[in-house]
Amino acid sequence: MEPVNIIGAGLAGSEAAWQAARSGVPVILHEMRPAVGTFAHKTGDCAEMVCSNSFRSDDDVMNAVGQLHWEMRAADGLIMAMADRHRLPAGGALAVDRDAFSQAVTEALRAEPLIEIREGEIGDLPIEGNWIVATGPLTSDRLADSIRSLTGTEALAFFDAIAPIVHAETIDMSVAWEQSRYDKGETEAERRAYINCPMNRDEYEAFIDALLAADKTEFREGETAGYFDGCLPIEVMAERGRETLRHGPMKPVGLTNAHKPNEKAYAVVQLRRDNALGTLYNIVGFQTKMKYGAQTEVFRMIPGLQNASFARLGGIHRNSFLNSPTLLDDRMRLRKRPNLRFAGQVTGVEGYVESAAMGLLAGRMAAAQVRGDDLGPPPFTTAMGALVNHITGGAEAKTFQPMNVNFGLFPPLEEMRGGRKGRKDRYPAYTQRAKDDFRAWLATQ
Ligand SMILES: Cc1cc2nc3c(=O)[nH]c(=O)nc-3n(C[C@H](O)[C@H](O)[C@H](O)COP(=O)(O)OP(=O)(O)OC[C@H]3O[C@@H](n4cnc5c(N)ncnc54)[C@H](O)[C@@H]3O)c2cc1C
Repeated sequence: MEPVNIIGAGLAGSEAAWQAARSGVPVILHEMRPAVGTFAHKTGDCAEMVCSNSFRSDDDVMNAVGQLHWEMRAADGLIMAMADRHRLPAGGALAVDRDAFSQAVTEALRAEPLIEIREGEIGDLPIEGNWIVATGPLTSDRLADSIRSLTGTEALAFFDAIAPIVHAETIDMSVAWEQSRYDKGETEAERRAYINCPMNRDEYEAFIDALLAADKTEFREGETAGYFDGCLPIEVMAERGRETLRHGPMKPVGLTNAHKPNEKAYAVVQLRRDNALGTLYNIVGFQTKMKYGAQTEVFRMIPGLQNASFARLGGIHRNSFLNSPTLLDDRMRLRKRPNLRFAGQVTGVEGYVESAAMGLLAGRMAAAQVRGDDLGPPPFTTAMGALVNHITGGAEAKTFQPMNVNFGLFPPLEEMRGGRKGRKDRYPAYTQRAKDDFRAWLATQ
């Protein structure tokens, strides 16, 4: 039987190898460490956790990442099984003993007769065979060059520059209004494509003070600040001059406050739709290195966002990721070269759990293909399905940035109440629907 070849034994590649092998298909897992290292990895173990030791919330009723845990356990996931085995006390979160966890994943993969682990860097994208590329945010330079020469230089980013993303239902529309600058656009929807939050002079000055005072994260050694070319963090813009933002992403021109048409705003923060469902909006031009706690405080100073709930906060990191909405089909294959499937953080998901989940899916899909079957993704009412649907089609391709799993990616339940108050009913309904639909998807295999 033809093997599935996997490049990268990180969180995604390890899970993909496990899933393919457990369904009876041979696997060759290629890993460059320890011979070739990265600035973040310290060992030669599979599934090394490079920073925190947390898989985040384990609440599968009220939390989307907890629901993703549930789905991965239901699908016999290796990463979740080893995380459960090496769990540390952490309240509602799933934290693990990182060394014991990675060693256990490595041992399980080595003990699986259908998996062969081969050490060494893969420098070029293979032309033939059934491959999964799961090389993560720190994909080696040689392979990154090879990916770029196949997909085009714009299609593989080296840095993420993530502006915060807000749940649309938590924006106060009695303060904010919908309008594109100078009412540009052919259709009514285009003319109303942005949500605008106005600031008067005092609010602007207080906002700049808060930005300058906020705690920031420093770059790690080896994680060079190459982002400076095109996407300055807002706090760096503010450091260059108090007026810089007012002449940049916060310029108030071409906009009329729908609630106070005679009052000219001193500055305007704009939010742009981030997914086809219209449930998520990103704050335009607000990439930042502020610490998460500081971000929530500072961004809630923006009129209209005082009660905002964030699907994800901003950041700038070294991160290789594809423009998946344009490059991948819904089976996670490169449209241009369908023998290559991508999985993990390189597809534009963010985080250990999300990366492992995409590995789980890619491993099952690749194995099905070897057996002559076709396996589609789970329905997008499930956490795994919502995530893969987002990266392969639901996300806005032009502004695509890595995404965590969150309820904003789930199709809304028509009959449920929106807003923050409705969450205690809405979230359990989402996760119940997800469990039912995930079980049904598993039953088809
Ligand atoms: C500095 C840093 C801190 C982070 N902190 C967190 C955090 O706290 N929490 C969190 O959830 N996520 C964090 N992340 C994101 C984290 O990297 C991912 O969540 C997760 O590791 C991604 O899994 P992956 O399998 O896609 O990539 P990885 O786990 O990085 O695995 C990719 C593997 O591919 C190998 N590889 C790369 N190129 C080649 C090649 N050419 N040939 C062979 N092998 C290759 C690498 O050695 C690596 O083992 C962080 C990332 C970075 C860079």
